[in-house]
Parts: sequence; C-alpha cells; structure tokens
Amino acid sequence: MEVLEHKNMEGVRTVWGQLTGRIAVRLYLFVVALCVTYYFLLPSRLFNDPYSTVLQDSSGELLSAAIAADGQWRFPQIQAVPEKFSQALITFEDKDFFHHHGIDLLAMGRAIKQNIQAGRIVSGGSTISMQVIRLSGKGMPRTVWQKLLEIILATRLELRCDKQEILSLYASHAPFGGNVVGLEAACWRYFGRGPDQLSWAEAALLAVLPNAPAMIHPGKNREKLKKKRDWLLNKLLAHGLIDAETCLLSKAERIPDAPHPLPSEAHHLLTRAANEGYSGRVIESTIDRNLQHVVEGIVNDHYLRLAGNQIFNASALVLDVRSGNALAYVGNTNPSKSDIHGNAVDVITAPRSTGSILKPILYAAMLDEGKILPGTLLPDVPTTINGFSPKNFSKAYDGVVHADEALVRSLNIPAVQLLKTYRYEKFHALLKKVGMHTLDQSAEHYGLALILGGAEGTLWDVCGIYGSMARSLTGYFQHPGKDRYDKTDFHSPHYLKIKNGPMNVPSLEATSWLSAASIYQTFNALTELYRPGEESGWKHFSSATKIAWKTGTSFGFRDGWAIGVTPEYVVGVWVGNADGEGRPGLTGIDAAAPIMFDIFSRLEGRSWFKRPEMEMKKISVCRQSGQRNTAFCSATDSLWVVTAGLQSRPCGYHKEIHVTKDGKFRVHAACEGLDNMRKESWFVLPPMQEYYFRSKNLSFRPLPAFRKDCEVTTALSAMDLIYPKPDSRIFIPRELNGVQGQAVFQVAHRNSQVTIHWHLDGAYVGSTMGKHFLPVRPGAGKHTLVVVDENGQTLQERFEVLSVL
Ligand SMILES: [Zn+2]
Repeated sequence: MEVLEHKNMEGVRTVWGQLTGRIAVRLYLFVVALCVTYYFLLPSRLFNDPYSTVLQDSSGELLSAAIAADGQWRFPQIQAVPEKFSQALITFEDKDFFHHHGIDLLAMGRAIKQNIQAGRIVSGGSTISMQVIRLSGKGMPRTVWQKLLEIILATRLELRCDKQEILSLYASHAPFGGNVVGLEAACWRYFGRGPDQLSWAEAALLAVLPNAPAMIHPGKNREKLKKKRDWLLNKLLAHGLIDAETCLLSKAERIPDAPHPLPSEAHHLLTRAANEGYSGRVIESTIDRNLQHVVEGIVNDHYLRLAGNQIFNASALVLDVRSGNALAYVGNTNPSKSDIHGNAVDVITAPRSTGSILKPILYAAMLDEGKILPGTLLPDVPTTINGFSPKNFSKAYDGVVHADEALVRSLNIPAVQLLKTYRYEKFHALLKKVGMHTLDQSAEHYGLALILGGAEGTLWDVCGIYGSMARSLTGYFQHPGKDRYDKTDFHSPHYLKIKNGPMNVPSLEATSWLSAASIYQTFNALTELYRPGEESGWKHFSSATKIAWKTGTSFGFRDGWAIGVTPEYVVGVWVGNADGEGRPGLTGIDAAAPIMFDIFSRLEGRSWFKRPEMEMKKISVCRQSGQRNTAFCSATDSLWVVTAGLQSRPCGYHKEIHVTKDGKFRVHAACEGLDNMRKESWFVLPPMQEYYFRSKNLSFRPLPAFRKDCEVTTALSAMDLIYPKPDSRIFIPRELNGVQGQAVFQVAHRNSQVTIHWHLDGAYVGSTMGKHFLPVRPGAGKHTLVVVDENGQTLQERFEVLSVL
C-alpha cells in the first residue's frame, strides 16, 4: 500500500513536473518571442525621408543646397547638436532627458493631471525619445494604442542609441514651420547661417518651434511665439543656465522675419554632384569659398560686357595643380538667377569644339620625340592633305614660321603639318591617355582636324590635362633618382574632398606620357603676354604672375577658350552661347582671355617652373631656322633642348653657294675660275615658302641669279606649283551665266624676271611673266600640267577636276 501510494505520488509528481515543464518551456518561448518582437519592433532605419543635397566648401561651410525630393528643406542628419539648442530643448521638452530610459512616468502623470483639469489635451508628457518615434511614424493616428507603442519603442530606441544620437535624430527631423525640417535648414532659413553660432534667443526659439511650427509665419501668432520663447528664456534663467543679463538681452532679440534664401554658390557643382550619385547627401567639396565668390563675381562682371555682344554664357574653373582639386567652379553665368539663356547648363562638363586649345599638347609631344626643337621653322603655305585644306585664322600665309611662334600665334597650317608628322592616330591615343574623355569617335573620324577643334572637349578635361602637365613637371623634382615620373600625376581634377584615404604610393617610372623637359619648353613658349587678337591686332595683357596660357576659338565663332597655368594653379575659361550660336568677336583672345587674366590677378603665387636640366642638353642652334646648326649657319644661339632633340634634323636652310666677287651673280666651277668667285652661306627657302615669306620679310635676300653664262638646271628647284596642289582633286564651279567657270593656276618662281610657259595635257595654253597666274578651263577628269621656264627648267604635276558643277 505504502509502495503503491508512493508510486502514485511519484506519478502525480511526474505529471506535475511535465506540466510545469511544458508551461515553463512555453513561457520561455513566449518571453523569447516577446524579446525578439521587441528587438525587431524598431525598424533598423527610423527615417526614410528624402534629404536636401548639401554642398560644403573645403572647410565645411555651406555653399549651396537643393530642396529634397518631397519639396522640404531637410538637410541630412547632423552629427552633433549645438549645446545651447540641446539645453534649451531639454529644458522645454524633457528636463529629465539624461536620466530616464525613454519614458518619464512623473512627467506623464503630471500631463494626465493637467489634461483632466483642463478637460482637453494640453500636454503630452512625451519624452524627446518618444517624440523621435512619433516623428519617424508621421501621419500615424494619435490613439492610446499608438501612444503605448511609442512608449515601448522609445525604450527600445534608448537601448540602441545614446542620448546624443537621440538628440541629433530629433534635431534633424523636427518640423520648424512651412517646408523647413530639421535644425540646420531652420538656422539657414530663419537666421541665414549655420547652427554652430546660435544665440540663446535663437536656440530658445528653435526649441519651442517644433511644438507649434505654424507660429513662425507672419500674423498674430508671432506674438504668441515670442511669449513662448521668452517663457523658455525665463526657465533657462531659473535653472541657472543663463544669467539675468543674457536673459534680458535675449528677450530683446526679434523673432526672424521672412525666411532667407539659402546660399547659392557653386550651384552648378551641386547639381553635378547630385547627378553623379551624391543626391540627398552632404558633399564635402574641395571648393575654396572665398575664391569661388571672387570668380563668380569676375564671371558675372564680364557677363555685362559679353551680353552686349549677344554672348550669354561663360564658365570658369580654377584648379590647384598639386592636388588637382577644383578650387572654384563657375559652371555658367548667373544673371539674376534666371535660366533665359541656358544659364542652368553646367558648361564645365559640356563637350565643346576645342579650337586651338589642344595645340600645346601636340607641341610638347613633338618636342618630346625630338621631332622639332622649340623654334624649328615650319612651312606656312597653302596646303592640301588628302583633300583637307586647313586655313589660318587670318587667311594669310607666312611662308615659314618658327614652331614656338606658330604655337603662340595659333597658326593652323603649321599645326596640321606637325600633326601629319606626329600622326593623328598617335595623337588621338595620347589625348585619351592624358585625360580627354570625350573622344568617342575613331582617330580616322577626326583625322588632321583633331588639332583644329575637330574634336569636342570639356573645360573640365582640358584644364585637367594642363594641370596634369604642370603636376608632372613639378613632381619631376620631388623624385630624385633615375625613375622620376609618376604616371598617375596625369589624372582628372577632383571636386570631392578625400579624407583619410589610403596613402598614394607613387609607382615611379623612367618616363611618362610627356617628359618634364618637353612640358617645360611648351609652357615657356606660352608665356608671351602679347598675342594676336584675331580681329583687332596684337593685344597686351599685363600680369604680375608669369603664366603659360593659350586661347582657342572654334569654327564659326561659337566657343572662346583661354587656359592658363602656373606651378600653383590652372585657370580655364570658356565663353560662348549654350545654344551654340556663333558671334563675331567670340574669340578666345577677346572674350575668354580677359576673364582668365582677371582671375589670375586675384590668385597668390609668383613662382615659375624649374628647368629639368637632367633630361636636357645645351646645344647650339641656327638662329634663322631654329634647327641644330651646321657649318653653313651664320648666326647661332645656345639653347637648352630636350635630350631627344639631339637627334632632330640639322639646319637644311643654310646652303653654301658660289657668287662672283661683287656678290651680284651666282657662278659655279664650270663657268668661273676659283680665284674669281667666293663661297657664301645663304638662307634658301623652297620657292613657294619664299614666295609667301618675301612678301612679309622685306629684309629677305633671295638667291642671286646665275650669271648668264652659268645658267644650268640646278639641283635646287626654282619653281613650285601653288595651285592646283600636286595630286589634288579640285572643283570648278559654273559661273552665273551657266558657262563653265575658270580656275586660276599659280606658280611661284624664285626669279621674278623669267617668263614661264604653260602646257595642259600636252597642249600649250599660255605664258606668264612676273606674277605667274594663268586662267584655264580644264574639263572634268585627270590632267597633266607641264610648266617650263625660259631656262628650260620643267615642272610636271598631275591633278584631277572632280566635276564642273
Ligand atoms: Zn641654319
């Protein structure tokens, strides 16, 4: 029996034990579920509101901001809440904030008592944490259940965030009246400055405002708002947070009037950054606010001058050479913040015809390979290459011109000759390597026109290339040893501040895209302050700073460029019309260069590049030809050149000739005794180059004629065909009356006294003397022209008339 009872008792205990065990497990699971629910109840991201895009300068000051996608001025969340504001807010809303865990039971009790006494809700007794929860679930109904949920979530929020974070969540999302959300936007809208220097009156106003945001608006409510603020100021005094005098002075401060417009500097950069993935974020830029202000002022001053000539758009970019940082970014003119002339377009990133602005890069590349020396003579005569006939801006020809002078005067024909020598395919590849991102067509598409503005480029890229060249040149001196080049010195400009990025360890090489010496000589060639103004003769710009600069004008006067560089800065200016409308006078020199010089005049820095002598040699060059001198060159200069220049061609212009003792005639050994002649070194140009050169150089001494008894067919050709070009294909338009038009053929002859005889396809067509022009009417098809001078020298060339239209 006892045994049985014992057994029964055990059974009961077991059942009981199983039962309590099961309950315990369920309870346990319930508690776990409750905890999990509690844990996950608060979304990981409390606020999903769209934010304003905010552009800051390099020191964190606001430059400009764009309204958020939902039409609210809501700045991205602030990290630190200003001390005065948090003290005022805590005093006003939640004085035990630092001591409770999300709920303040005493305050809630007080609120309930007050509400019952008043017979309506006058106080919510909500903590700041509860208000953060309420702000995050905006639009939720104000029910008891909702309130309960807020309480639970507020305690959860306290577990996730520290007190400072909760304050910053509140300050960033509280409504401040109208479409102003958050403390930072409120400070800018109501006080016209950021939240870092609030007065006590301002802090108190902002602390009471979210409680009654509509009161800020004009009307009788403003008096109530002031009362509310002053009540809080008294409270701050009572709590010993401010002294009596501060309280008195603060109460005297006015409630702000109409909201201030937000600052709007570098707003094209703001738009660009927003489009490049930084929308709704704080963009810490590299912009120097003071310089930005100065440059915007200069561009808009010049706008007044340019608009008089129907030129409505201009942009300017200032880069720091060392870092590549954009210091000033003026994307367009900004007359009265309107957009009537496409002023919203950021022209800094708009591809435009490059005019002559790429010529210095080709000049440097040619120096780099030793294909020219700085002053090498280049032909400047009518030229047709595969049907392409470049013209100089002036439509005139110099015959020959020194390469550096051709660069400074921006002559097109010598530039095309250089590109032909360098090869456009290679130049196309080089431009891509040094930072031009707009060459989306093949090299063949651009051909030789690549050097004359046939390709489009952006001010951003082109300034980047000039800056990279300067950086590469200054960087050369920072890396002693054999490997001096860091190819990454060629990089695009930046506008984002790089903070605590990985240290850039340069990987040094013996060469780069362009050598320091070639860059140095190119920049030196570009320092002349006198330049031909395309329409108005030579212009002089004065500058206290030595600047390497280049202008460019696109075909049809649509784009004027000016880019200048010093060891410290690159300043690039583009002027034109966003709609592409060309204007007379819209040239780089007249429209853009004055802006560039004005900007340079406001920049610090007076240094110049050091000469990279380690990769240069001092050699003797012919003064007249600019080439390495030979025994025949009369005057020579001593010059530092790129080492590769030692392989450049020696002077081919100075030739040794024999003349009679009086120097009047040329003779040779077959017709004159050695005693009766003397050797002379003579500067000889090919006939066509001489033809154009003589007309501009009165001191030019043409070769003396052979004495009658010495005339022979010499190795030196005396004649050149000017038109048609050898192997060219020409059009001859019909005249107005319908008859076939005529072409005027032209020959240059070294001796202006001779008669020459013309033969077309084997038939004699005429003779000319002095100036050799001959009107002819060849039909469509291939022709052979034979020209014979009275000395029997012959010139035979083929050409094709494509059609007689
Ligand atoms: Zn010479």
